[in-house]
Amino acid sequence: MSDHNVIVLGGGLAGLGFARHCPGARVFEAEAEPGGYARSHEFAGAWFDQGAHICHSQDAAWLELVCAGTPLHEMSKSVVLNHKAGLWFAYPVQNHLADLPAAERDAALADFLAAQEKYRGREPQNYEEWCRFQYGDYLLENFYRLYTEKYWHVPMRELATDWLGGRLLPSQVENIIAGARGYQEEKQAVFRTFRYPKRGGFFALVAPLYGGVDLRLNKRAVRVDAVKRRVTFADGTEEDFESLVSTIPLPQLVAMIPDAPADVREASGKLRALRHYCVNFVVDREHLSEANWFYVYDPEIAVSRVSFPFSLSGEANGRTAVQAEVFVPGDARPAEESLRDKAVDDLGRLLKFQQAEVAASEIRCEPVSYVVSDLARAAAAAHVRDWLRGRGIETAGLFGNWEYLWSDRAYASGRALAEAMGRAK
Ligand SMILES: Cc1cc2nc3c(=O)[nH]c(=O)nc-3n(C[C@H](O)[C@H](O)[C@H](O)COP(=O)(O)OP(=O)(O)OC[C@H]3O[C@@H](n4cnc5c(N)ncnc54)[C@H](O)[C@@H]3O)c2cc1C
Repeated sequence: MSDHNVIVLGGGLAGLGFARHCPGARVFEAEAEPGGYARSHEFAGAWFDQGAHICHSQDAAWLELVCAGTPLHEMSKSVVLNHKAGLWFAYPVQNHLADLPAAERDAALADFLAAQEKYRGREPQNYEEWCRFQYGDYLLENFYRLYTEKYWHVPMRELATDWLGGRLLPSQVENIIAGARGYQEEKQAVFRTFRYPKRGGFFALVAPLYGGVDLRLNKRAVRVDAVKRRVTFADGTEEDFESLVSTIPLPQLVAMIPDAPADVREASGKLRALRHYCVNFVVDREHLSEANWFYVYDPEIAVSRVSFPFSLSGEANGRTAVQAEVFVPGDARPAEESLRDKAVDDLGRLLKFQQAEVAASEIRCEPVSYVVSDLARAAAAAHVRDWLRGRGIETAGLFGNWEYLWSDRAYASGRALAEAMGRAK
């Protein structure tokens, strides 16, 4: 394809996967660094990612690619916890009912067993039904609904079930019964093992792969003329293309194409994503928690996930790095300083450290984060992508496909597109 003029918008993993398999492709990235959501940065002597990132891929080819040049911390038994109303219990809750007070444990187990009978063979139509059929009413009402509304900011019945693969464990009756009796050996099975770079954060895994890619930084696309096949950038420059591959968020892409028709704009308007804040700080104390990360159910605490970067990279240096993640609806604009201060304050109470022990803190925002897998998503994204394809614009990646993809899959989606376009030529 080297004689074919291909432009890629976005230098994250999907753009990288495409460019490495399409010689001659030029990648235009809005930011000053590549990596997109897989970027890491150093703050107060610790490496932080854009939200907890670990490598739990089972894809042998991907592992060979990313593990070759990077010294890794290999975790064989991760510790993942939950917190609710002063109680710490292992993740996922249904496999560790013995961690709950006896009355809660019994109610949860009774409802779980009843659900196995009552809903046998029923096909769930939404996430609320999926949880009810899998786990029963008690776990649904007291855990899953609480967390979903806090994290996704969407009623459960508006969420689809197509995002669940690899996240929640399918119902395993014996395990759950054993867990209620306290016999659960496994602290959790999803993400039980993972790899993480010893230095440089998650991005160190993929940084070497950018060598040889024609990458143009600080190039934010602002307009796409699908008829003239021309992209205009924020710095006023323009580039012509024969093929355009976009990995930037679909709604942003549609907004920069002046002649996108009303039905496409309407479909694009249905695509929802969360806004993501990371509060990063370092506490002058060696040990704050046995967990690698934990989830917070309490509705009065905005933070939903907390991770400990030194525990991921396997460092021990007398301090603890903490990353607290807050997800809000895409159009929410919370005051950042008070969000940061309250997060640090709330975690001081949960993890029992004093504010005077906090060496430094910062807050960072990713305006477009997890794609909300509501019932409208799949059809709306397909409509937009079909229209774009008809204009010679292909899309790939987490935000180009507008569906949740882990990092290995984001890269693979770019690679698959390059291979398909190479065959089509
Ligand atoms: C909170 C969170 C946690 C995650 N945790 C994990 C994990 O633990 N393990 C794992 O394997 N995966 C994880 N992932 C998934 C992983 O981060 C993504 O799959 C991957 O980084 C997506 O790559 P991408 O190229 O598709 O998108 P992006 O990384 O978003 O790349 C798109 C690029 O386009 C650029 N861009 C945007 N607008 C423009 C414009 N107008 N012009 C030019 N460039 C533009 C952006 O700056 C960005 O670099 C997580 C994702 C999230 C959101």
